[in-house]
Amino acid sequence: MFKQVTSRANPDIKRIKALAMRKYREEERVFVAEGVRHALEAAEAGWEFDTIVIQSEWLEKPPVQKLLSLLEKQKINRLEVTADIMESLANRDNAQTVLSVIKQRWHTLDDVKSGSWAVLEEIRDPGNLGTIIRTCDATTFDGVILIEKTCDPYSLESIRASMGSFPHVKLVRCTRNEFIEWSKTSGFTLVGTHLKSAKDYREIEYKKPLAIVMGNEQAGMTDTLVDACTAIAKIPMLGKADSLNVSVATAIMLYEAVRN
Ligand code: SAM
Repeated sequence: MFKQVTSRANPDIKRIKALAMRKYREEERVFVAEGVRHALEAAEAGWEFDTIVIQSEWLEKPPVQKLLSLLEKQKINRLEVTADIMESLANRDNAQTVLSVIKQRWHTLDDVKSGSWAVLEEIRDPGNLGTIIRTCDATTFDGVILIEKTCDPYSLESIRASMGSFPHVKLVRCTRNEFIEWSKTSGFTLVGTHLKSAKDYREIEYKKPLAIVMGNEQAGMTDTLVDACTAIAKIPMLGKADSLNVSVATAIMLYEAVRN
């Protein structure tokens, strides 16, 4: 059953707008995904939905019908809205025709037992984080471990940048100390990345289970994490630039690990 919403002052609409703020996303443990493609990816992967908002004219379109049949058994709030309301919910010019509120999924370090993972220390840019999530999906890395104060992987910017990969990449968050303690007994090969390293990233053995550690955009990796690593890699800088963007460096490292 769809609820018809025609007023911007509707409490459901106000709530969705408030979810643009991290505070409310964390309190409610949900996030907003724009567009039918992101919703389909999440529904096909079995994610739990909270609310689905669909613009009236789009209700009968085949991708929306497919989405609705995938969500048939989920108890969710279904809202049918006008183009005007959809526009008021959009955070940029091209308003979407479908918007979903989806329940966040978090794993813990206890779930990290095998495979390949990217570890991000205090990463701050949601665009970088979303891009890294997309690269993890592309290289079949299992997930991302977020250390200390990172930006929110469930922000609109990060979800957008992940381009529909977010349902396929697991997320863990922990403190630096928790990660260091875990690393001592995990049996993982920990490959760090640092501009001061003398070791070329192509000379490293990327033995699984594997974690590749990337540093903060400004400060790089902390010494504490560098000391916990099995090896530290450097991607050669051939011109005048002293470093690469962290999401570019992550892509190079992950593809090298897969090739290796
Ligand atoms: N000023 C910082 C430093 O000295 O480490 C630069 C940080 S860099 C922009 C952000 C992260 O990207 C680094 O911590 C590292 O993980 C990765 N990175 C960037 N360029 C790299 C390179 N040439 N070799 C290895 N890692 C690199």
